[in-house]
This record gives sequence, structure tokens and C-alpha cells, in this order.
Amino acid sequence: MSILDQFRLDGRTAIVTGGNRGIGRAIADGLADVGANVVIANRDAAAGDRAAEEIADEFGVQTLAVPTDVTEESDVQAMVDRTVDEFGGVDILINNAGIVQHNAVEEKSVAEFQHTLDVNLTGAYRTAKYVGEVMREGGGGVLINVSSMSAFVANYPKHQVDYQASKGGLEALKNQLASEWAEDDIRVNNVNPGFVDTGLDAEADEQLETWRSEMLVDEFAEPEAIAPLVVYLASDASSYVTGESVVIDGGYTVR
Ligand code: NDP
Repeated sequence: MSILDQFRLDGRTAIVTGGNRGIGRAIADGLADVGANVVIANRDAAAGDRAAEEIADEFGVQTLAVPTDVTEESDVQAMVDRTVDEFGGVDILINNAGIVQHNAVEEKSVAEFQHTLDVNLTGAYRTAKYVGEVMREGGGGVLINVSSMSAFVANYPKHQVDYQASKGGLEALKNQLASEWAEDDIRVNNVNPGFVDTGLDAEADEQLETWRSEMLVDEFAEPEAIAPLVVYLASDASSYVTGESVVIDGGYTVR
């Protein structure tokens, strides 16, 4: 098989949580571009349907949107069942759904802290748990968590301790799942983006300038910059890569 052919995902089934917009949508587009059928799993049903339709039209693959709140175990179970009914199995799971709440510890209630962990970390566990069963029965698969550089560094001057904790947790989750599931031929890896332009317009210009000056690449990433790395990790081109985290941050954490 040629090197380029190793990156193809023709006929494989990929679930992308939060695949309707932002980084998740770019990942869903990227997977579809190399032939994967894509399931969009997010809460807003209309947005999910729209994304699924657009991806099918643009890339000629099969798509499905299943309204899913990753904090609801029954939603996750139903979404995985529906995917199996429609496509016969699951080859790739992208745990991308995530939230961030910007407020300092003094204002952040324990309930808020727990909610962020419930979406970003326990949400990833819920989908992994049910998709993992299907992958085991199907002879293997690939799981990729969209973590963050925030798993490894503090973000100054942001106030997002719950977010950092959730992404740090995804690192340990990934290590252990990769270990426990190796015998089932399930590879587990994380991608760890830096600043991606999905909501940066809310930041002050001065702050953006400071962060930009701390990067080695002079621009913030577009969501599309993350997708090729995910395609690589989802494909046979990365068959020897598991239990790994790949930071993709324009060199921000190097400085
Ligand atoms: P967006 O806010 O643009 O998108 C978040 C996505 O998650 C939406 O599709 C949303 O859909 C979905 N989502 C949120 N809550 C839930 C839930 N409970 N159940 C199911 N889906 C949910 O975020 P980004 O694209 O910026 O971020 C995507 C991922 O990338 C996150 O995990 C984030 O932490 C990570 N990341 C982002 C960076 C950045 O700079 N933007 C940097 C590093 C990592 P809906 O509302 O319809 O449910």
C-alpha cells in the first residue's frame, strides 16, 4: 500500500462528538474527505442535521446526525446503538465535545467545576465505554480525544481551573485506556491543540497580541489545521502510535 493510501479511511465509520461546529466540524470534514462515513453527535439537533447534510453533499460519504448530550448516559448509549444499526459498527471515535467556563475560583461553584468535568472528561469516558464495547466485538478501532495544551500548562491570564483539570484528566484516561485496550486492537491517542480561532474574538486585542508574540508560528490556528493530524491518528498510517499525545500549538508551549 502506498504511503498516501495508508491515510485513506474509505468505508470506515467515525463518530465525532461536537462535530457540528468549530474544531469538531473541521475534523468531521477531514475524515469524510478521506472516505469515512461520519456520525455527528451534539446537542443541537438542527445544527447536527445541517452539518451531516453538508458533509454528505460535499464529500459523497454517508452521514448521520444523532442528537446527543454527552453528559447523559442514555443519550450516548442510544447514539452508539443507532450508529451500529446504520453502519454495522464503529471504527473511529473522536471525543471532541467540550466546554470552558471563564471565572476565578472565588466565583466558580463546585457544581460548575463538576459540570465542566462531566462534559469534557466523564463525557469522553461515557462515549469510550459504549463505543469500546462495539470496537472490541468488531476486532478493534481507534479512539482520539481532543485534549488541549492546557493539559500540560497553565493558561495565563485565564481563569479556567476546571477546564485544565478536565484536560489533564484526559491524559491519564488516554494512557490507561490505551494500555487496557491494546489487547483488543484499540489504539487510543490525544491531540492537544493550542489557540484555535473558534472564539478568540471575545478576547481583547492586547491579549491576542501577547499570546501571538509567545508563539513560534505567527498566527492562531484555524480549526482546519487540526484535522490532518486527526486523520493521521485515525488511519493505518499511525498503526504504531498509541498512548500518545500530540501537541499542535504553533510552538506556544515551547516558549
Ligand atoms: P466550540 O464551542 O466551537 O464547539 C463545542 C462543541 O461541543 C459544539 O459542537 C457543541 O455542540 C459540543 N458540545 C458542547 N457540550 C456538549 C454536550 N454536553 N454534549 C454533546 N456535545 C456538546 O468549541 P471548539 O471547537 O473550540 O472546541 C472543540 C474541542 O477542542 C473542545 O474539547 C475544546 O476543549 C478543544 N480545544 C479547543 C481549543 C480552542 O482554542 N478553540 C484549544 C484546545 C482544545 P452543541 O452545543 O450543539 O452540543
